[in-house]
Amino acid sequence: MNQDGHHSEDDRSCQNVAVLGATGSIGTATIDVVTQLNRVDPDFRWHINTASGHRNTQLLAELAGGLEHPPDRIVLSDNKNGEDFGTAEAELRALGSKIEFGPDALVSAASDKSVDVVVAAIVGRAGLESTMAAVEAGKRVALANKETLVVAGPVVSRCCEKSGAELLPVDSEHSAIFQCIQAAASKPKKLILTASGGPFRKWTREQMDAATPKSALAHPTWQMGPKITIDSATMINKALEVIEARWLFGLPADAIEVVVHPQSIIHSMVEFEDSSVIAQLSPPDMRLPIQYALTYPRRLPCPSPDFDRTQPWDLTLEPADLERFPGLELGFEVAAAGGTAGAVLNAANEEAVGLFLAGKIRFTDIVRGCREVLENHSHESDPPLDRLLELDRWARNELHKRFEVS
Ligand code: NAD
Ligand code: MG
Repeated sequence: MNQDGHHSEDDRSCQNVAVLGATGSIGTATIDVVTQLNRVDPDFRWHINTASGHRNTQLLAELAGGLEHPPDRIVLSDNKNGEDFGTAEAELRALGSKIEFGPDALVSAASDKSVDVVVAAIVGRAGLESTMAAVEAGKRVALANKETLVVAGPVVSRCCEKSGAELLPVDSEHSAIFQCIQAAASKPKKLILTASGGPFRKWTREQMDAATPKSALAHPTWQMGPKITIDSATMINKALEVIEARWLFGLPADAIEVVVHPQSIIHSMVEFEDSSVIAQLSPPDMRLPIQYALTYPRRLPCPSPDFDRTQPWDLTLEPADLERFPGLELGFEVAAAGGTAGAVLNAANEEAVGLFLAGKIRFTDIVRGCREVLENHSHESDPPLDRLLELDRWARNELHKRFEVS
């Protein structure tokens, strides 16, 4: 304690954070949160000791260079052999951080004993190995990478039980549900996920047939990476979140509901045994759920803004339209089926989103392709991780065959 009653930096023990996917939307928001936690947290000093980026080495160099203390370790995951650094080489080397290369370096960083919290912010199945490594090493894992749970929910859950890892949701809906359950200190009866409805909430199927990548990328309430933004437009994002909720909270698919809430202020709700419903509200800003995953169970001032309550405000809730958004139905089916279904849906979707963004298939082909690949696979109920990864490759290939593009 200083003379003025404040803690000096050295009084505080350090929380070392590994941000995997530091250059993305969640990654940069995490850096913001960690930077400001150092101003408001009386108990801990926060240090980004690992930061990874895939292709954008320039941005990674800028982010790492902007930190008060550079990371101990930087991982360039797309650069397998340490050649071809790009233009940011001098900047990165000047930081003095240890620089490591390729996807294996993500795995060793995630399980390194110096790391206290792993923020799993890589997009897609590419985040699976490092997220699993963090779980196996018994870390606190702030989980943004929902795809890992969609692909391998039961494997991850079993692994958490064994290792004692703490899996804390970053996805705003799951953070909301987690907070509601904490607040009620009761077992939930139903989980009610909210969905913004995305940019095509009011579009007809015919309009969606002709939707361009540009219109699908124009999300009304959230600024996110391209893959999750397209997933929001198809509502496959909500499908993935139903599956994520099933594994995070251990409730069956028929205890999970989705309602459309275009303002994205109610992040989700939980119904309890007595039919009371508790909701979590905050402006649409991912820094709040990221921070809560880092500091849980503590609540500290957060850089996300308060919402303006001086003006009249509407909170609209409407039923989800499964006819216009058939992708959502896939989530309930896959959450109920379990086993291999999640890995197949996720892989088909990742490939279909890539083809749509490349202008090779129509918007409505994404969900159609996913359904066809899913229906063409023979379901297995308790597959090991190797089998799931094998089916991931199979489903990607199947999806491409359907559209005869390579
Ligand atoms: P993004 O595209 O903005 O960032 C992705 C990050 O992953 C980048 O750092 C990129 O370099 C890295 N990356 C990409 N491909 C990689 C690969 N093959 N190997 C290793 N690293 C790779 O994505 P985002 O919007 O930040 O989303 C990240 C994750 O968080 C996703 O799983 C998404 O579903 C989830 N999520 C995001 C939001 C959001 O608001 N953005 C909200 C909820 C959940
Ligand atoms: Mg979400």
